[in-house]
Amino acid sequence: MKCVAILGGGPAGAFAAAQLASAGLTVQLFDEKLAWEKPCGGGLTYKAYNQYPFLLNNPTPKREVRETVLAASDAGEATLKLDEPLLIYSRFDLNRLMLERAEHAGAQIEKARVLSIARGAFGWQLRTSGGTATADFCIVATGARNPLRDVGTQLRAEDTMSALGYYVPGNQARINIQFLPHLEGYIWVFPRCGHLSVGICGKGEAAGSLRRRLELYMAQHEISWKDATFYSHLLPSLDASSWRGNRVSGDGWMAVGDAAGLVDPITGEGLYYAIRSGDLAARTIVEDACSPAGLPAAYRTLLRRDFAGDLEFGSRLASRVFNGKFLGGAVTSRMVQFTRLSPTFRALMQDLFAGTQSYIGLKQRLMQNLNGSLIEAICNLGLRRLIPGEFHAR
Ligand SMILES: Cc1cc2nc3c(=O)[nH]c(=O)nc-3n(C[C@H](O)[C@H](O)[C@H](O)COP(=O)(O)OP(=O)(O)OC[C@H]3O[C@@H](n4cnc5c(N)ncnc54)[C@H](O)[C@@H]3O)c2cc1C
Repeated sequence: MKCVAILGGGPAGAFAAAQLASAGLTVQLFDEKLAWEKPCGGGLTYKAYNQYPFLLNNPTPKREVRETVLAASDAGEATLKLDEPLLIYSRFDLNRLMLERAEHAGAQIEKARVLSIARGAFGWQLRTSGGTATADFCIVATGARNPLRDVGTQLRAEDTMSALGYYVPGNQARINIQFLPHLEGYIWVFPRCGHLSVGICGKGEAAGSLRRRLELYMAQHEISWKDATFYSHLLPSLDASSWRGNRVSGDGWMAVGDAAGLVDPITGEGLYYAIRSGDLAARTIVEDACSPAGLPAAYRTLLRRDFAGDLEFGSRLASRVFNGKFLGGAVTSRMVQFTRLSPTFRALMQDLFAGTQSYIGLKQRLMQNLNGSLIEAICNLGLRRLIPGEFHAR
């Protein structure tokens, strides 16, 4: 393979470009904006920087957050200390860091919009806002709003969440997560360098309604959105039925990151999966263990084994987490209460926030620890007060 074209220079495309160029391939990356403030919380879990230490060890400004406050309207709050902090970047800074790595590794970076791609007998012909180019292989990294119809995942309405919010002046040491009744999603307040990102994501609910919920929350918490910058974007959140047929690769191409729908359907975490899929796509090409015709299938198998199988499992849990009931109350309220009352459950939540607890292993861990968590909760509060109607948030 002589030349790989990377379409899109977000975390997925930039990481794939860096890996391929380091391995000696000719790499051309096209992005219409290059580094930009893509609407995003910018939160990176321990799982991400533990596997890719350059995300932690660099001089780029970022926040290290060691405390999260979880809240549900009928369950009060619970403070969760994070042994492994969450890193929070501005997306402009993170994208720039990753594009510079790719450039230093030898990738050619071009600020141009890819208008169309066509596969001929001798490879790909690309038409961009800057002219034309050819490539032997394409990596599609154009994000959730991928405009290239024939490559990448085909998102249906039920495979997406709306996500929107405001960048507001302010500073705080902790993250806030607020669960709301009848919302498959949540509100977040993320401290960033110099400002807060306050946002909401939700599945199956119109953006206008989400915005009203967010503004109500902000008003109740005295966070003004006057003069604040508003942002909104699409977040892939594949339905359980969409994973099996998910179009992640084909003849001469592989899709990575949001363009392949690779986002955690419960938390909305996408940065790790963007970087990881960029890594796996590059590895599939570099290791070249099969003929070019075998690359798409090899990548699909690698993705599934590595994390896509777990995300598919997570997509089956999502509506039960946000809309389900446990012990007569909402699962999200119980999560808040148990986090407050049970050290065993708190340890599980810490691992979920660090990204080290898989969804496939979650049920078994919950079942194993259920008795212990219940006993701890009862000892700390009393079962009587866990019963709906009698529970008083502390
Ligand atoms: C509001 C919100 C909050 C989020 N918060 C978090 C969070 O805190 N933590 C987390 O892990 N994930 C979060 N996510 C998800 C995360 O933002 C995405 O999963 C991640 O950006 C995916 O990276 P990517 O490289 O696949 O795509 P993107 O980051 O979207 O990059 C795609 C790139 O392709 C370029 N492009 C698109 N079309 C073309 C074209 N035709 N030609 C040239 N270039 C093109 C764009 O300019 C862009 O730079 C959030 C998402 C949203 C919407």
